[in-house]
Amino acid sequence: MMDESRDLVARDRTVVWHPYASMPASMAPLSIQSAHGTRLVLSDGRELVDGMSSWWAAIHGYAHPVLDAAVRDQIGSMSHVMFGGLTHGPAVELAEQLVAIAPEGLSHVFFSDSGSVAVEVAIKMAIQFWLGRGRPERHRMLTVRSGYHGDTLAAMSVCDPATGMHHMFSALLPQQFFAPAPTPEFGATFDDSNIAEFRDLLIANRQEIAAVILEPIVQGAGGMRFYAPGFLSAVRSLCDEHDILLIADEIATGFGRSGMLFGCDHAGVSPDIMCVGKAMTGGYLSMAATLCTPEVARSVNRAESGALMHGPTYMGNPLAAAVSLASIRLLLSQDWQATIRRLESRLVDGLAPARGLANVADVRVLGAIGVIETREPLPMDQMQAVCTEHGVWLRPFGRLVYSMPPYISTDDDVDRICAAMVDTVSRVTVTGT
Ligand SMILES: *Cc1c(COP(=O)(O)O)cnc(C)c1O
Repeated sequence: MMDESRDLVARDRTVVWHPYASMPASMAPLSIQSAHGTRLVLSDGRELVDGMSSWWAAIHGYAHPVLDAAVRDQIGSMSHVMFGGLTHGPAVELAEQLVAIAPEGLSHVFFSDSGSVAVEVAIKMAIQFWLGRGRPERHRMLTVRSGYHGDTLAAMSVCDPATGMHHMFSALLPQQFFAPAPTPEFGATFDDSNIAEFRDLLIANRQEIAAVILEPIVQGAGGMRFYAPGFLSAVRSLCDEHDILLIADEIATGFGRSGMLFGCDHAGVSPDIMCVGKAMTGGYLSMAATLCTPEVARSVNRAESGALMHGPTYMGNPLAAAVSLASIRLLLSQDWQATIRRLESRLVDGLAPARGLANVADVRVLGAIGVIETREPLPMDQMQAVCTEHGVWLRPFGRLVYSMPPYISTDDDVDRICAAMVDTVSRVTVTGT
């Protein structure tokens, strides 16, 4: 076993490129044999408690019997057929299910294969909306700093300019408008000064802006920040007032993670366009969706093409749709809000000891998301080593040690994750990496 996994890692390093990594990566990956429940089983037999849900996705844990069965059943009838000119039960039922739980007014669903593509589709929808209304000059996006919307080009153009490395791709990226990161933090009282710069930017450039795009309430990979619902409500009002579309990127926040089904639900607002992905399939397959209102669809139809110009090969994939449907039904069949509250209070208690530490700038928890932010960036290899030593899988980076555990995590799982996080920030020190 041991030799086999070492061999696999060596072979991996010869041929496989990993996310945000050099080739070969500076740190060797861990070889995974299997995963079940909240556990990742390494090829050498060790088990790690999963604190990442495989990047927000595996909300029901791994190898869940209900989700496994959904995939198996679907394989029996068909794994995939093209979506141009054809349709099938899983896609129609999933679209109906999404519309039923989405914020009011979102009634049409465009399927795609990943979150980044769902964001590309949302941006194309917004631009075609204004083409349909005879306003081609309204083609730019207004967003906020510290955002993350994916790695394809249009998506990258609305990511935080610094962490999104805009300078490297400036020749290719459309130029967008950036307001400061949303304030105040979640739980603090929003007042008009929090939206002032955003409002000024929006009003000054409103003739060019097609849409505002942002992550509602939780900014994920761009900084793991939680902001007050009042900010989102104010953005919705400004968009209404100045006839600008609002795109909510719910790819990380969707399906309960922040304590509400969608981030927008914290503020009771409906966007004109909404992107979902990640947890939609329960972490089984890659699928995403872009939802919109009838009004958006009508104007898109009036653009010169008469149609939305997008159509991924694997659009509406039956396997992914079937498992998404099973995952959403499984979520809704339980008292998921009580589950998220339980995880939230366990995270609050478990991370509290980090508050007193000298190098800790902030500790914050919202729903099933726990974050320790350090004052200085810490070396990733050392952080990773401390976590694995605790038997916990986390992927801290820079100044962020964070967790979004599967919803099925036990109190003991969460305690172990928190202990690993606290120990990481107390033991790892800045070494200039
Ligand atoms: C992960 C993420 C994306 C990109 O999704 P991919 O499936 O990785 O392409 C977009 N927006 C947000 C908010 C995300 O968290």
